Amino acid sequence: MRNEEIYKELVAICGEKNVLRDEPLKDHTLVKIGGKADFLVMPETYEAVAQVIRLKEAHQLPFTLLGNGSNVIVLDGGIRGIVMQFKHLAGLRVEGNQLIAQGGANIKDASRLACENSLTGLEFACGIPGSIGGAMVMNAGAYGGEVKDVIDHVKVVTQQGELRTLKKEELELGYRTSIISKNKDIVLEAAFALEAGDQAAIKEKMADLTFQRESKQPLEYPSVGSVFKRPPGYFAGKLIQDSGLQGKGVGGAEVSTKHAGFIINKNNATAADYIATIEMVRKKVKETFGVELELEAKIVGEEVK
Ligand SMILES: Cc1cc2nc3c(=O)[nH]c(=O)nc-3n(C[C@H](O)[C@H](O)[C@H](O)COP(=O)(O)OP(=O)(O)OC[C@H]3O[C@@H](n4cnc5c(N)ncnc54)[C@H](O)[C@@H]3O)c2cc1C
Repeated sequence: MRNEEIYKELVAICGEKNVLRDEPLKDHTLVKIGGKADFLVMPETYEAVAQVIRLKEAHQLPFTLLGNGSNVIVLDGGIRGIVMQFKHLAGLRVEGNQLIAQGGANIKDASRLACENSLTGLEFACGIPGSIGGAMVMNAGAYGGEVKDVIDHVKVVTQQGELRTLKKEELELGYRTSIISKNKDIVLEAAFALEAGDQAAIKEKMADLTFQRESKQPLEYPSVGSVFKRPPGYFAGKLIQDSGLQGKGVGGAEVSTKHAGFIINKNNATAADYIATIEMVRKKVKETFGVELELEAKIVGEEVK
């Protein structure tokens, strides 16, 4: 199928304003890195999501799902085929003690809404800059809390376009992983089971976590957050710090001097700079401590040809 035909089909499903061609993905990732997407589509309904899935299946088109772009590094050559983002599927509502969020809603906003309704359980998420979909896939967590503690069920579309509801027990939530990432399901909606709480206490906990985050993390620079997973028995940031890597980097990318687990985009870094910095860190930590650092962030797309 030629690109012109793909474009027409996508416009018929999502509407012209929701299909962008040759869209620079650095504008859609928090680290501000990445080449262009052939097509960036932003469906407004679940049916449109399923139709795009069926289109890409029928024509075997490459397909990538992007959440809030807070944990991905898009390579400089960009992404071929269809990139889908849930900018318009970002609703949030409270039903009794459940908070129901669409895949594109920000988990920070879900945390704030829970607080407004005096519901406790999502305070840990008040500073995580990801979408509900991304948070489900990664089983996002912070300061002792994680999605696993509060999720009730999730509605997904499979890669074949089939709608399914997955209960907590079926989600196989582990450290920064879930069945959703293994099956490449697409999260449409998630329901969190919260508890009635004291609003002042919820607010205080969120303020405390925000203070801890702002004082320790280099939030003034674009980044992907923690680049590496926590290796069993160690802290990635401590290993990197003790390897003397803070302030070092390649091109515009640099290991943060504030938190060694973060690599910041200090000065118009390319994906090539960022990846080269990651490799430098991995090599040095392996040489110094014999520990292999595994990436938490995901690398997508292709290199410049
Ligand atoms: C400053 C900073 C601080 C951070 N702090 C934390 C933290 O404390 N704890 C933590 O866990 N993480 C943290 N992160 C990382 C990141 O915010 C989380 O991993 C988040 O869950 C990623 O969500 P996203 O929507 O940005 O996903 P993206 O980065 O866009 O994508 C990540 C993965 O999720 C998939 N995905 C996205 N949406 C969907 C969907 N609807 N259905 C299925 N798959 C989907 C993508 O395909 C991709 O594989 C931080 C990042 C930054 C930049």
